[in-house]
Amino acid sequence: MSRLSTPLRKNDNVLIITGKDRGKRGRILKVIAGKSGKSRFIVEGVNMIKRHTKPNPGKNVKGGIVEREASLHASNVQLVCPECGAQTRIGHKILGDGRKVRICRKCEGVVDK
Ligand SMILES: [Zn+2]
Repeated sequence: MSRLSTPLRKNDNVLIITGKDRGKRGRILKVIAGKSGKSRFIVEGVNMIKRHTKPNPGKNVKGGIVEREASLHASNVQLVCPECGAQTRIGHKILGDGRKVRICRKCEGVVDK
């Protein structure tokens, strides 16, 4: 493996494979590039944390507890294939038109539409 950068992208559906949210599925809302080429992800409805906010009338912010998603490390999530629905690793394939796409290692279905 030459490049270690995670092939997961925004809007991919992923399964959480470790931690307190193990077994949950969600959509990637945001990809955060990490220092060592490993990314972190914000996944919809997963790894929720409570944050206490102070009221700030100047910015029209009400005080209280806000729940939001905390980021997950790339090693904690795995792609859910849109074709076969299995959790899978990602492969790559060059299409006839020269486009490089991601494929499911299990069913070899094209992940990128
Ligand atoms: Zn598949």
